[in-house]
Amino acid sequence: MDKYNNFFGDFGGRYVPEVLRAPLIELENAYKDAVEDPDFLAELAEFQHTFIGRPTPLLHAVNASTELGGADIYIKLEGLANTGAHKINNAAGQALLAKRMGKKRIIAETGAGQHGVATASACAKLGLECVIYMGTEDIRRQRPNVYWMELFGAEVRGVESGSRTLKDAVNEAFRDWTASYRDTHYLLGSALGPSPFPDMVREFQSVIGNEVSEQFAASEAEQIDAMVACVGGGSNAIGFFSPYIEAGAPRLIGVEAGGRGEGRGNNAVRMDDTGRPGIVQGYKSCFLLDEDGQVLPTHSISAGLDYPGIGPQLAELGRSGRLEFQSATDDEALEALKFFARTEGIIFAMESAHAGAAAIGLAKELGKGRNIVVNMSGRGDKDIFISAAALDGANWKDFLQEEAGRIR
Ligand SMILES: *Cc1c(COP(=O)(O)O)cnc(C)c1O
Repeated sequence: MDKYNNFFGDFGGRYVPEVLRAPLIELENAYKDAVEDPDFLAELAEFQHTFIGRPTPLLHAVNASTELGGADIYIKLEGLANTGAHKINNAAGQALLAKRMGKKRIIAETGAGQHGVATASACAKLGLECVIYMGTEDIRRQRPNVYWMELFGAEVRGVESGSRTLKDAVNEAFRDWTASYRDTHYLLGSALGPSPFPDMVREFQSVIGNEVSEQFAASEAEQIDAMVACVGGGSNAIGFFSPYIEAGAPRLIGVEAGGRGEGRGNNAVRMDDTGRPGIVQGYKSCFLLDEDGQVLPTHSISAGLDYPGIGPQLAELGRSGRLEFQSATDDEALEALKFFARTEGIIFAMESAHAGAAAIGLAKELGKGRNIVVNMSGRGDKDIFISAAALDGANWKDFLQEEAGRIR
């Protein structure tokens, strides 16, 4: 696949105010130069190995597959990466690139805080100043991640405008960058936003898919029949799928947040008939919009899938039919979390559990002799406040009250 596309069919592009053209073009040139430079690629590979802990394992989920009685499930354990999810692949790649460009300062947006944690971690290791924009509503809801970011030495800057959530944090980060780009890199967190971000984030996340293809080739199994990943903005999915996109096989399945079920505001499903083409925050893609073209609120049990837009390349692959989209509800994700914990001894992040839920259904549908690879984009320790409240509410409440009483 081309490392640089700019547009994906009709989607993508660089729909930004004039003032942001210069930094985006500078970034595009630096990115193109870096990904062709063997020295940069060697530095990146070394960092991935020593700091992130790559390669992450590909687990043959024998117990789960046997119990389901259908296709064999393999699980890519991205959750074992440093900071607990795939987001560090992109954060580390962009931070190394920023350093190469001579930037001293990194800014980023974060919603649930996962991208902020990954960015702050990479900046700590590489000695870069780090400012994370975060809506004050999200700061209130995501205290543990704010705590980690600050421990990594980042400044978390509260955003008071609009709904005080992710989209407002993105606006503030762009505003900062407009004035600061000479010494500052904006480290965007998913495979979306204005070009070159969708291409660049895919390249840094493609390490997931490239490892899967090596690891699967070394296994006794013959061929992958289907690959499954959850889709928020789309970075873990596009990186996991990337080596397989141009070939017609395997089936590639993106799983969106089905939330509480159908109906506006109850989910974050964009790739059925509800999503509409639009231009939001610098790129054209498929969004959940109201009659006036304003972005709609969404719901998901997993903070990372709760996004009204989707990366432009995934939107185009959905439109062309190369990618299939499914959704899993909050309850189905919780069931998948329980199932893989009990059978395989692993904890899916709530986001990744959506992919797990789809893989359970698909294993039965495809049947014996077929192989499915599912990306566990993150591990679920971070979700204990949500999963324990949902699955063990009374005990968890007692515990939290007791803990709160202990703090002076
Ligand atoms: C943020 C996050 C996601 C969703 O983001 P994508 O860009 O769609 O990958 C999925 N899984 C985990 C664990 C996350 O932290």
